[in-house]
Amino acid sequence: MAASAGVTRTTCPYCGVGCGVLARAGQPVKGDPEHPANLGRLCSKGSALSETVGLEGRLLHPEARGQRITWDDAIARVARAFSEAAAEHGPDSTALYVSGQLLTEDYYIANKLMKGYIGTANIDTNSRLCMASSVAGHKRAFGSDTVPGTYEDLEQADMVVLVGSNLAWCHPVLYQRLAAAKAKRGIRVVTVDPRRTATADLADYELRLAPGSDAWLFNGLLAAIEAAGALDPDYAAHLDGAEEALAAARDATLARVATETGLALQTLTRFYTDWIATERVVTVYSQGINQSASGTDKVSSILNTHLVTGRIGRVGSGPFSVTGQPNAMGGREVGGLANMLACHLEIENPAHRSAVQGFWASPTISTQPGLKAIDLFRACADGRIKALWIMSTNPAVSLPEADAVRAAIEAVPFVAVSDIIARTDTTALADVVLPASGWGEKSGTVTNSDRTISRQRAFLPTPGEARPDWKIICDVGRAMGWEDAFAHESPAAVFREYAALSGVAGALGRDFDISALAEIDDTAYDRLAPVRWPVSATKQGGRFFADGRFYTPSGRAQLRPVAPRAPEVRPSAETPLILNTGRVRDHWHTLTRTARSARLSRHIGEPFAEVHPDDAARYGIGVADLVCVSNPLGEVVVRALLTERTPKGSVFVPMHWTDQFASKARVDTLVPGLVDPYSGQPESKAATVAIARFGAAWHGFAAVRGELAPPGTAYWARAKAGAGWQAELADTEAPADWEAFARTLFAAPEAQAITVHDSARQSVRVALIADGQVAGVLFAAPEPVEIARAHVVAGLAEGASAAALLAGRPGADRPDPGATVCACFDVGANTVLAAIEDGAESVEAIGKVLRAGTNCGSCRPELRALLERARPRLAAE
Ligand code: SF4
Repeated sequence: MAASAGVTRTTCPYCGVGCGVLARAGQPVKGDPEHPANLGRLCSKGSALSETVGLEGRLLHPEARGQRITWDDAIARVARAFSEAAAEHGPDSTALYVSGQLLTEDYYIANKLMKGYIGTANIDTNSRLCMASSVAGHKRAFGSDTVPGTYEDLEQADMVVLVGSNLAWCHPVLYQRLAAAKAKRGIRVVTVDPRRTATADLADYELRLAPGSDAWLFNGLLAAIEAAGALDPDYAAHLDGAEEALAAARDATLARVATETGLALQTLTRFYTDWIATERVVTVYSQGINQSASGTDKVSSILNTHLVTGRIGRVGSGPFSVTGQPNAMGGREVGGLANMLACHLEIENPAHRSAVQGFWASPTISTQPGLKAIDLFRACADGRIKALWIMSTNPAVSLPEADAVRAAIEAVPFVAVSDIIARTDTTALADVVLPASGWGEKSGTVTNSDRTISRQRAFLPTPGEARPDWKIICDVGRAMGWEDAFAHESPAAVFREYAALSGVAGALGRDFDISALAEIDDTAYDRLAPVRWPVSATKQGGRFFADGRFYTPSGRAQLRPVAPRAPEVRPSAETPLILNTGRVRDHWHTLTRTARSARLSRHIGEPFAEVHPDDAARYGIGVADLVCVSNPLGEVVVRALLTERTPKGSVFVPMHWTDQFASKARVDTLVPGLVDPYSGQPESKAATVAIARFGAAWHGFAAVRGELAPPGTAYWARAKAGAGWQAELADTEAPADWEAFARTLFAAPEAQAITVHDSARQSVRVALIADGQVAGVLFAAPEPVEIARAHVVAGLAEGASAAALLAGRPGADRPDPGATVCACFDVGANTVLAAIEDGAESVEAIGKVLRAGTNCGSCRPELRALLERARPRLAAE
């Protein structure tokens, strides 16, 4: 059905759930009730999309080393650098590093340029960091990178196992669908994760296994399936290698698995018995499995259990890899990884290469895989790469050994960066920056985790001189002399070519075939409704592999014997703790978009390290202390969050913070570039580190109306808040003059200062007045300052008096709401606890009183956690 007048149907640009969005310029977005991925739901990030589309900080013109240049000049510089490098040093001296944020049309054209025209497969994507091990595992087992099932399977299963997947925060709408189905049908949910995440809230029981021991757990399951006589004898005809896989798993006895995973025998028995007894079982897995130096084997250990039982591609059963990014799947389809050709064709297969080259009528075709992400930046460092183009991603922050990556990018003679944001840690390293169109301004398609292709549609005007990525790439291709091959005038024209090539792939027996869309005209492309591939004359959507037909040479699935391997780096006396990295609920990647929303930053606005209380005691770390987390690769300084959610011996630090938002919090500087030998995916969850209390002479909190530049103290973390910004501060030496410090901090040299000293507590509070109102407030003390931050920020925005703000707390008539739990309705933890005390005894009851949890639902696990926290106290009263 068409959207109402002025409303555009499009797709959320964040996670791989791929929710449909109804958008209108200047209005809050809504979930699209007709999109099959979300049926109207949105999470907190999706709900705040309209707050992230402003032009603040946008890159609006091409620049060369900070100087504005014309598009013609910019395109000529990129084309010249790539042509000269290829001519002088060979095609493999050039490289593209792209992103799961690109649309399929962008990805397709980038691949065509590199693999078919420049003649190198040195194009890799940041999706290498999140799901390359699933791709490798799928290809090994199925002969194709195929997700067998659909989202509906999670709702139709009788048991869902979530492995290394914080679905509640990383794929929130899928979590909501599962939660709703569980409430209706009583689905048994089991979480497998060393850390207790928000997702565990939905679990009937948790398997908090030792970090990195997942392959032992699933080998043990395989052995238990055999021992229970639960192998599917009919489906066995569709398998190769089952006996070898079973033989390799036989030493995974219950006792051995208990030793390796640290799980109790009783827990293991319960899990294995439940899994074996449940015909409809879906095993969902994501970064906790993939981000490992043995990630592909871990994937194989999961696939083996589904294959030997034939529980694959049937309603409510199958293994299910969920992708991190909105178009990671689209990138996989167009060959966005350095070891693939377009449309699931193989780079090492001469017939496939010949078919693609023939279709493109291209002068060349890559004959061997290119450099995967980690190796690509190593080649930058050692001088092999002479021209590098980075699109829509921030590798100076997000890649392992991020400091070395930054140096590697600096070492490349020519670097172009396409982005929507002017100042990122990576654009700072570019020779030429190219302004790309952002979400809301660009048009194309994306594919979500269950193979559904959706249209992303523009609903905002393109600002400045920004251009869509596919067009920038076509412009460069034409400037390099390939006029006809890159003559596309629209994303629809690119899509038609791509769909036609998929027909060639389909004719070669590949799974990915959308050739029924190859003749789509511009109007039909514009109206294209979400559709799950394949979309050919003979196949339409649906599941794969229930019929036992695979894309391997034998036509049978290839099971792999798995020998579990522990993480490569082990804790030592110098670095005794395991570092786990991941996401938080309301932020996305390197904060370039979600940090524009004060609402999203209210949930978590400061980088942190989750530390188990026993480890905190051992290392002398107190509540809210700052901690240095370090190893020989580097150091970050973040806030300590003492919690039993993270197991003893581990710390968890989120991946989002960059040098734009914190003094030293790029956690990937601590992650070594160790990769899985098959997938090239880095081990991002098993670095080892030491932690120590950061010795600050003072701590501070500042809130300002308007802009706040990076403060320059030894520690700072800033976030959008209210009508401006807020910052947490600390330093090793106190300023001699607090008022002068505040004036510098708030860039208000003429402002009048009102200062309150508390000599007993050695604290100081400063309000700066400019133009008759408070411009900013600063609180400083020897210990982390204890004030009601939300109250101060709100008061500043509302024009409260200096006296009211410097009190740091609301009066008795206005209670402190506490840290934000529900971002949609701005409900704080203290407000929720008060409602519970007043008799709201369930999440639904809290929703009725406060509306918290009734919109996107992302905070419902936290509401349940607050209920749990309050119950013992209420029972005792
Ligand atoms: Fe966007 Fe949230 Fe949906 Fe993911 S779950 S696509 S972040 S609205």
